[in-house]
Amino acid sequence: MAKVVIDEARCKGCALCTLACPKKLIRMSDKLNRQGFLPAVFPAECSRDCTSCALCAQMCPDVAITVFRAEKGEKP
Ligand code: SF4
Ligand code: SF4
Repeated sequence: MAKVVIDEARCKGCALCTLACPKKLIRMSDKLNRQGFLPAVFPAECSRDCTSCALCAQMCPDVAITVFRAEKGEKP
């Protein structure tokens, strides 16, 4: 399965990634990070719906998102 890892400590809570995701899989947390922002989160259960298109990572101005593609032969 695809996996999206968001570095909460780097996130400035701009929410651009939530707008970029065509499947609306990324949400904003209700808990502040150590910079005092509400960071983006990728719920683990959303992995099965993620296409690993990486639009979220491309959109992030703080390079806080890493997208891991599904293994070859594995369902995306
Ligand atoms: S990789 Fe694509 S589908 Fe997956 S969370 Fe990011 S924008 Fe959404
Ligand atoms: S685009 Fe980057 S900085 Fe903005 S909310 Fe998403 S992860 Fe955080």
